[in-house]
Amino acid sequence: MARRKQVYEGKAKILFEGPESGTLIQYFKDDATAFNNKKHAVITGKGVLNNRISEYLMLKLQDVGIPTHFVRRLNMREQLIREVEIIPIEVVIRNIAAGSMSKRLGIEEGTMLPRSIVEYYLKSDELGDPMITEEHITAFGWASYQEIDEIMSMALRVNDFLSGLFLGVGLKLVDFKLEFGRLWEDEDMRIILADEISPDNCRLWDVKTNERLDKDRFRQDLGKVEEGYQEIARRLGILPEAGPRDMRGPETIQ
Ligand code: UDP
Repeated sequence: MARRKQVYEGKAKILFEGPESGTLIQYFKDDATAFNNKKHAVITGKGVLNNRISEYLMLKLQDVGIPTHFVRRLNMREQLIREVEIIPIEVVIRNIAAGSMSKRLGIEEGTMLPRSIVEYYLKSDELGDPMITEEHITAFGWASYQEIDEIMSMALRVNDFLSGLFLGVGLKLVDFKLEFGRLWEDEDMRIILADEISPDNCRLWDVKTNERLDKDRFRQDLGKVEEGYQEIARRLGILPEAGPRDMRGPETIQ
């Protein structure tokens, strides 16, 4: 079989050319990085879990009318996606203070925010993803006013839906990062959700104990990183316990 052409390699994923034009294959690696690449490790099994968790969440979002790049999962580590023109902005939605917001504004981690807050960061490893405002985005032409309005409202809808979904399995969605892309269909263009949604880019805490089950286990050297990701998949009912045929539904926590 001919070797597939690699289109892009990022920190946690590789993109290959897809089987037909307008598609790509997204491969999930076990590599984890933090603090702008200063910290690196291989977390065995992470790619498999993120592929599965992201598939599950993207399909649930599609069910409620959020357009995404996800087409279908191909195997344990790969999914077929639609090729989009990535908007070079990381959109962070926060419900509870944590991470860089706590540091920057001196708000204790775990403080409930008065309302959900959307922030924008420029996707640039060289610059360390600096925080930007709508003013920068529109002035420099990274996205138009109309696009940024659409991104903001889609991000808040994703937040409402995912917050409820995670709460149903005993998890608080503290904050998370989304990326969007432009999908061209003939002369028409629309904005769709891209990238991945997984514990690599969400903070998820247990409702009762506030135990961190996400990438902060790696960032803060809390250990048992893969176990945290597994626990998220288990609660969502997508961790095969007795082989791949054992796919139970979500476990509701009262
Ligand atoms: N995040 C991400 N990629 C980044 C930066 C942040 O996925 O390059 C996610 C991160 O996992 C968290 C949220 O965005 O869920 C907010 O991250 P924060 O700004 O607090 O930065 P951090 O503390 O991760 O440096």
